[in-house]
Amino acid sequence: MTEFLRRPTHHYQDPLARIWMDCAERIGFRIERTNLAYATTDGRGTIFIGADEMLDSDDSLAQMIFHELCHALVEGEAGETQADWGLGYSGGSHPWREHACLRLQAYLAGNMGLRGFFAPTTDYRVSFWNSLPEDPFAATAEDGGRRERSCVAARIAAWRAAQPRWNTPLRKALAASAAIAALTPRVLQAEAAALPASAADGRQEAGNPMPSLWETANQLPALHPTGHAPVAAYHAEHDCDDCAWTSFERNARRCQHAPGIRLADDAPACTRWEPASELDCLSCGACCREAYHSVEISAREPVNKRHPELVVVLDTHRKLRRDGDRCAALGGGDTPQQAYACTIYADRPRTCQEFTRGSNHCLDARRRVGLSL
Ligand code: SF4
Ligand code: SF4
Repeated sequence: MTEFLRRPTHHYQDPLARIWMDCAERIGFRIERTNLAYATTDGRGTIFIGADEMLDSDDSLAQMIFHELCHALVEGEAGETQADWGLGYSGGSHPWREHACLRLQAYLAGNMGLRGFFAPTTDYRVSFWNSLPEDPFAATAEDGGRRERSCVAARIAAWRAAQPRWNTPLRKALAASAAIAALTPRVLQAEAAALPASAADGRQEAGNPMPSLWETANQLPALHPTGHAPVAAYHAEHDCDDCAWTSFERNARRCQHAPGIRLADDAPACTRWEPASELDCLSCGACCREAYHSVEISAREPVNKRHPELVVVLDTHRKLRRDGDRCAALGGGDTPQQAYACTIYADRPRTCQEFTRGSNHCLDARRRVGLSL
């Protein structure tokens, strides 16, 4: 009798892990497993994630890759060239950068019903994550409100996530994750047994099975009728009517995020809802600072004579001088609470006069500086 030795011809891969590795690769990162660290990056495009035996029972490779991608979005291209995104161990001396990453992670995952599923697991992250309100960008007025540092960094990162390099891979990976969650049989999710009180902090006790992580996945939030963002349960007391980005044009109510579409009178608020009452230039200044690089002026504008120290002439071009990344005529804004002010308001160039608050350009400027989503 001849002995038959079966030789495997394939190897099994966790589909969710494969989806997120593929997402990272499409964005431009390599994923490698390591026995030397829980998660680290080399600043040369490789993200190292701890080997399976180093991970806790609620760690998923998918969540860990997603979290590192959120760091990359917050830190931008400069962070990508530094080990550990330039953060140092455990977020280093800049907790607001870790907080920005977590706000972004909660926002992107929450938009797909996966905020619980894609929750971080390390101790120093969990406490901030658990303290986040339903609106992951909400901060108290005392902390700076809309201009709180980690909120601003997270919104800029969300804006980056919408740019071509990131948008499609991220969107597909999140959608595939939500689709798998929706298809995961309830029988797997129902393996929960009553957890003893001592396991309420998430630590497993021998012999006490834990509920499946899949159980934390919620239904996909309904998409707003405009199609640009999900309906926000946490803005349920508001609707498009009191949002900063609605306007009445061409006989219909419209949204600056979806300009070609008519809004129904009772359209609900989406995750990008902003109180119309807070769309205030004095607390914003976006179009006068880093959202745009220059304000072109003509030779006939009064600012040339009245404020020559603010005018730069290059060949035939004239523009307002910049101080760093903001217009030299812009004052204020030194703290999140301090108002901005144009110091030459009466003589400001025509470009500035014609810039309309609440317009599509205004929205674009605010997204670039992290004040709007
Ligand atoms: S951004 Fe504002 S106007 Fe636009 S859909 Fe959302 S809530 Fe409505
Ligand atoms: S016009 Fe818009 S972008 Fe410019 S300061 Fe006012 S609110 Fe901000």
